[in-house]
Amino acid sequence: MEKDCLFCKISHGQMGTDFLFENDNLVVFRDINPHAPVHLLIVPKRHIRSINDLTESDNDILAEMIMTARQMAKKEKVNTSGYKLLFNVEKGGGQVIFHLHLHLIGGWDK
Ligand code: AMP
Ligand code: ZN
Repeated sequence: MEKDCLFCKISHGQMGTDFLFENDNLVVFRDINPHAPVHLLIVPKRHIRSINDLTESDNDILAEMIMTARQMAKKEKVNTSGYKLLFNVEKGGGQVIFHLHLHLIGGWDK
């Protein structure tokens, strides 16, 4: 865990955030400031700053994040209407929380 990292704290259950899904490697919770009717964040428990910091050893967690997003889209019933999966990378890419996370955004037209 990285000291002072909000998503480290959230993913380790220290903020009381409700999880829609959790396993040993990642958690899923709703974005506090949703940009769409369905806006989830898929967050690895291990601290990785951004996409720029990934190495080959992170291939498994990355695949798991995408496959979990796919399952959550189905659970939230946006799989058929469609959705966006988004990584913001560093400040210029809109990243404000520097702990890797995947946005799942959809539900405009369920
Ligand atoms: P990013 O701009 O990609 O770094 O996205 C960070 C996201 O985290 C934003 O969409 C915020 O609304 C969201 N966020 C910040 N704090 C919380 C929190 N405590 N619980 C849930 N989502 C949060
Ligand atoms: Zn972190």
